[in-house]
Amino acid sequence: MPHVVTQACCGDASCVYACPVNCIHPTPDEPDFGTAEMLYIDPDTCVDCGACVTACPVGAISPGHRIPETQKRFASVNADHYRDPSPDAVRFPVSALWRKPLAPIEKPRSLHGTPDPLRVAIVGSGPSAMYAADELLKHRQVHITMYERLTEPFGLARFGVAPDHPATRSVVNLFNTIAQNPRLRILLNVEIGRDITLDELREQNHAVLWAGGAPTDRPLEITGVDLPGVQSATSVVGWYNGHPDFVTAGPRLDTERAVIIGNGNVALDVARILTADTNRLAVTEISLDALAALRDSQLREVVVVARRGPEHAAFTLPELIGLADGPARVWVDPADLEHVDDDAVHDIETAEKIVLLREIAAGPKPEEPYLRLAFGLTPERVLGTDRAEGVRFRRTTTDSEFADLDAGLVFTAIGYRGRPVPGLPFDDARGTVANVAGRVVADQHPVPGLYVTGWIKRGPNGFIGTNKTDSTETVAKLLADAEAGLLSPAPVGV
Ligand code: NAP
Repeated sequence: MPHVVTQACCGDASCVYACPVNCIHPTPDEPDFGTAEMLYIDPDTCVDCGACVTACPVGAISPGHRIPETQKRFASVNADHYRDPSPDAVRFPVSALWRKPLAPIEKPRSLHGTPDPLRVAIVGSGPSAMYAADELLKHRQVHITMYERLTEPFGLARFGVAPDHPATRSVVNLFNTIAQNPRLRILLNVEIGRDITLDELREQNHAVLWAGGAPTDRPLEITGVDLPGVQSATSVVGWYNGHPDFVTAGPRLDTERAVIIGNGNVALDVARILTADTNRLAVTEISLDALAALRDSQLREVVVVARRGPEHAAFTLPELIGLADGPARVWVDPADLEHVDDDAVHDIETAEKIVLLREIAAGPKPEEPYLRLAFGLTPERVLGTDRAEGVRFRRTTTDSEFADLDAGLVFTAIGYRGRPVPGLPFDDARGTVANVAGRVVADQHPVPGLYVTGWIKRGPNGFIGTNKTDSTETVAKLLADAEAGLLSPAPVGV
C-alpha cells in the first residue's frame, strides 16, 4: 500500500529528496511549496520503498497498512491532493510544475578561493540556526560557533512545540545529531549585546548569521488588553513547556471560560492543552508546575475566536484533523457555519477543512472541558474593571451587531513579531531584519559578512521544517559571497 504523510509533517522536504520516483509534492522548487500546509504522497506513483520514512526527521510518514487509527483520514487527504479535477468539480490551482523532475542535490562544493578555516558565527540555536549549520557543515572548511541565550539549545523546537505533539518534538534528535559535528560548538547562556557585541562577532568571524527568531507577540490594540487576566497565548506555551522566561506566566485557571483571540496553530495548541485530559498530559514532557495547575483547573470551555469565516481559518488542515480525530474534545456551533462562502474556497486544503468543520458541527456537544471554534467575531474591547471579565466582539460582517462573551481569561494569539536587532537594519513594516534572500541589506546594498535566516528573515510563518529551505537559501548566498571574496577580512587571531 502506498505511504501516507500524516499530521506531524514538518515540511522540511527531506522525504522529497529521498523519494526515488518524485511522488511527494509540492517540492521546494514548485510554486505552491510556500503555501502548502503539508506535503502529500501520490498513491498512484508511490512504489512503497519506504525511503521517505527513513528520511523524515519527525516520523510523519506511515506505510498505508500501518497508519495509526487517529491518522487514517490522511490517506484520503494525500490522495485528494492528486485527484484529477473533472470539468464538473471545483478546479483547484495545483502547481503545473508538480511532475517536474527535481534538480539533483548539489554536492558539497570545495569552495575555491575561500578562507580555510571559514569562520561563521550563528546567533540562535533554534530550527533555522540548526538547519543553516547542517548546510554549512557540508563544507569541510567551515567552522561554526553558535550563540544561545538560554541554557538549553534548539529554541522553538524545544520550547514552542506542544507537549502532546511528541513526533514534532522529535526533530530535536536531528538537531542533536547535527550538534555532534566537531566543527560546531554551541555556547549556551551567552547573549549578544550583554556578553559579547555584534561588532566583536564580526571581528572574530568571516560571517555572522543571525537566526534569533521573532521573539515577541504582535500586539492586539483594543481597550482593556492591559487588564489582569489578559496575556499572550505564547506566554502560556512558554509556561507549559518550562521555558525559563515564563515560569511565572501560568494563568489563573479559577474561571469557567477562556477566550483565545486568533485561530492560528498557536491558538489551537493552547486551547487543546488547556482542555486536555491531564492523565494524557502526565506522560508527556509538559512542565510539572503546569500539569499540577491544569489538574486543578476550573475551565469548562475554551473558545478560539476568528474574526473571519472558516474559509479563511489560519489553523492548518493537519492540525484540524489531529484535533477532530484525536483525543481532544472539540465543538463547532452549526450557526457559525451557516454563512460559509463556498465561492471563496479556492484550494483543496480549505475545502477539506470545511468538510471537517461541518462534520464536527453535526456531532454532539462534547463533555466539558472542551474547546470551541468560533468564527466571524472581531474583538472590540476586553470587558472588566479590575480584571478581564469577557470580550465584546463585533460581528465582522456587520457594523452594528455586537456579542459579549463572558470569560475570566483572555489570550491573544494573533501572531509573532520580530524585534529590532541593535546594529542590524530593521524593516519595521515586516518585522524582519532588512534582507534580500538572506543577505542583510542597508540602503539597498548588501552588508558584507552579515546574513539572516528563519522568522527574522521571512516573518513568522511556516513550520519547523520550512526553515530548512529558508536556511539553504541564505547559506547559498553566504558561500557565494565567500567564493567571490566578499566576506569580512580575516578574523582577529586567525
Ligand atoms: P497565525 O497563523 O499567523 O494566525 C494569526 C491569527 O490571528 C489569525 O487567525 C489572524 O486572523 C488573527 N489576527 C491577526 N490580527 C488580528 C486582530 N487584530 N484581531 C483579531 N485577530 C487577528 O499565527 P500563529 O498561530 O502565531 O502561528 C505562527 C506560525 O507558527 C504559523 O505559520 C503556524 O502555522 C506556525 N505554528 C505551527 C504549529 C504546528 O504546526 N503545530 C504550531 C504553532 C505554530 P486573520 O487571518 O483574519 O488575519
